[in-house]
Amino acid sequence: MVEIKRKGIIEEDQIYETLKRARSHDSSMVRDILAKGRALEGLDEQDIAVLTGVSDPNLLAEMFDAARNVKDLVYGNRLVLFAPLYISNLCGNECVYCAFRVRNTDVKRRALDQEEIADEVRHLVSQGHKRILLVAGEAYPREGFSYILRSIDTIYDSARGHGEIRRANVNIAPLTSGEFKLLREARIGTYQLFQETYHQETYRQVHVSGRKMDFDWRISAMDRAVEAGIDDVGIGVLFGLFDWRFEILALLQHIRHLERKHGIGPHTISVPRLEPAVGSDIASQPPHPVSDLDFRRIVAILRLAVPYTGIIMSTRESADMRRETFALGVSQISAGSRTNPGGYGAERPDEAQFSLGDHRSLDDVVRDVASLGYVPSFCTACYRLGRTGGDFMDLAKPGLIKTHCQPNAVATFQEFLLDYGSPRTREVGRETIARAMEEMDGGTRRKTERMLGRLREGRRDVYC
Ligand code: SAM
Ligand code: SF4
Repeated sequence: MVEIKRKGIIEEDQIYETLKRARSHDSSMVRDILAKGRALEGLDEQDIAVLTGVSDPNLLAEMFDAARNVKDLVYGNRLVLFAPLYISNLCGNECVYCAFRVRNTDVKRRALDQEEIADEVRHLVSQGHKRILLVAGEAYPREGFSYILRSIDTIYDSARGHGEIRRANVNIAPLTSGEFKLLREARIGTYQLFQETYHQETYRQVHVSGRKMDFDWRISAMDRAVEAGIDDVGIGVLFGLFDWRFEILALLQHIRHLERKHGIGPHTISVPRLEPAVGSDIASQPPHPVSDLDFRRIVAILRLAVPYTGIIMSTRESADMRRETFALGVSQISAGSRTNPGGYGAERPDEAQFSLGDHRSLDDVVRDVASLGYVPSFCTACYRLGRTGGDFMDLAKPGLIKTHCQPNAVATFQEFLLDYGSPRTREVGRETIARAMEEMDGGTRRKTERMLGRLREGRRDVYC
């Protein structure tokens, strides 16, 4: 009897075949692909495979230039800022790369109670944050999943002075369809989940016990989330576990699957690299290390392949690396982060998930970003005006998002400067805003001036 092979979301054989075929390419083929990328047409698997093999310095320079171009066209010069909020490091899984793995006795365990979460949020709000990414291990305190729901309520309710959290994104383990519905009702922004590696054999080796061992349960999480009504989802790979070339082709297969099945792709892609973690050997010695040059390649290729999807870079990267990759296509960054529950209120490095490459405060990161010519944005307008999922894609595709995003970026940056900026950051910020206004067309500039006027009158949370 002929065996009928079930078609999965990830077709490993096809990825290897595509990578093999792409080995024979010439410069004109690469330039054609770059032209397609520059035209915002997106790339297919074969195109991506060819770009992963580019090593000629001139062609590489052209590839980076094309990515910068696309980032500029779709996202302009703004960078959205957020902070992770680790509420618990309890976990029932044994992911060999993570300090929170269940058998690691070198880490102190802690699940914040609601008062402690409120405290952490007040710390973040008093720095100027407006967006939080809630993060937790896969084991909840006695109350179960409702712990997460209560924590989201606490985040939205913990205002301080002018500040409040306007968007709570969530990075937690895969849920059932019913739980995803509850998560949507809790008014989350994006549901984020990384597959870690799309390579099944590697997945099996690095997830030794616990629910996370189940590759299919994890990869199907986004389908359940979208079917439950969460139309903003974020995917990602933990780079360093397996060959990055394989991983970005697999990422594309996952994206095409979501587009085919639900008519929407992911809102964001995250590109974490393995960082040293207490009690993990593999975290300090990644089996497939990704060099800084390869990391830049990853960002550039993704920017060209899926021009309308946000790319998130975390504080795992050093300040220098972040500077270089902003230009290539990163659209969101975390700043002033701690990866241990309670870490904003107190230093507790022995409870952290991994070590950070960038230890600067939000004010320092904002000033740095602004002095590099980017407009730091705390905007949450799209999500609050219902411009999410398919609506967001429709707006983003013709580049229209810039006419909404640029005024909102400038207004939220101005709000940050007025309420939280240090004198040095205000000075740099004034120049950045003046430059951003000069670059706007007349209509957008007038709209932005009206928004800034309202902020000067003492109004807050001004957006369009
Ligand atoms: N526990 C949930 C899960 O695993 O999906 C969600 C939270 S987990 C703390 C968030 C992410 O941290 C993981 O998806 C993984 O990619 C990342 N992570 C774990 N160990 C890491 C390390 N050593 N370096 C960098 N990122 C790491
Ligand atoms: Fe737990 Fe997530 Fe860390 Fe795995 S990555 S040990 S599931 S917190």
